[in-house]
Amino acid sequence: MKYYKNFPLRLLSSFRIGGNADILALPETPEEVQEVMEKISRERIPWVVVGRGTNVLFSDEGFRGMVISTIRMRGTRREDGRVKAFSGTSLSSLISQNLRTGFGGIEELVGIPGTVGGAVWMNAGSFGVETGRFVKRVRGILDGEWREERPEFEYRKALLPSGFLIVEVEFEFHPRERKEMEEVLRECVKRRKRTQPLGEKSAGCVFRNPPGESAGKLIEDVGLKGFCMGDACVSAVHANFIVNRGNARAKDVLELVKLIKERVYEKKGILLEEEIRVIPEKVQA
Ligand SMILES: Cc1cc2nc3c(=O)[nH]c(=O)nc-3n(C[C@H](O)[C@H](O)[C@H](O)COP(=O)(O)OP(=O)(O)OC[C@H]3O[C@@H](n4cnc5c(N)ncnc54)[C@H](O)[C@@H]3O)c2cc1C
Repeated sequence: MKYYKNFPLRLLSSFRIGGNADILALPETPEEVQEVMEKISRERIPWVVVGRGTNVLFSDEGFRGMVISTIRMRGTRREDGRVKAFSGTSLSSLISQNLRTGFGGIEELVGIPGTVGGAVWMNAGSFGVETGRFVKRVRGILDGEWREERPEFEYRKALLPSGFLIVEVEFEFHPRERKEMEEVLRECVKRRKRTQPLGEKSAGCVFRNPPGESAGKLIEDVGLKGFCMGDACVSAVHANFIVNRGNARAKDVLELVKLIKERVYEKKGILLEEEIRVIPEKVQA
């Protein structure tokens, strides 16, 4: 099991923002995850788990403790529509496999750049489809013990205990015509390209959509589309995305987030809530 010291977290973040983590762990198997968790518990190391880092904002000061990323723990086992996937498997490879095997349901999620673990934790969704709908069981580690859960899901949230590290997810997909799947994939990719700043450094939607509202539309309505703080800018393509135009710092993003929240509250009476996870420099061990 390899540990990396002073790892620059910006390399683990689609925002390309973040200072150094004291330690980065990249376990490749469930046994290695267990080894990491034993070390953490023995040495009382503060820790956080991420997948591909496409929905997080790391601190400019980095992280004092251990960041665990699952990106090297990939792989699936299939029995028809029942699929067990390690949490570091990319959502896109799961979708491609589904297409080959004729079992589907999550084609609408094409283009979400994260891992299976991140998609389950966040209940990632798009075009009316959410990850949680297909999750049967989740296996992982909580407080040093292996646990199996059948979580409920809410909008952009799995109801799993805090500190639960997802190691493997069991999905159930349904037979779907290949032609139909290809059509959905094509259409969703097209819509995504048209409506999202895909070539830019971002962490996806920054705010949750308030009930019955679109956060992007609210931000646009209050005149902040395209507004920048340092190199952190509200995307001119989709106002719920903040993009890093060069050397944005977490501080710039957070100031922009604060300004957006104030402005939307002032003008619309709606308090936006962050969807991205802000990971501070220090957390409790
Ligand atoms: C261009 C772009 C487009 C996007 N479009 C969408 C979209 O359409 N819909 C959508 O919902 N999201 C979207 N996102 C956001 C993001 O890709 C998803 O939320 C994705 O599921 C996050 O996966 P990840 O592996 O990157 O998770 P990370 O960003 O690494 O982590 C996200 C959260 O999940 C937790 N987590 C990750 N892995 C585990 C694990 N194994 N065990 C326990 N907790 C874990 C982390 O602690 C963190 O709280 C987009 C992002 C980008 C950059």
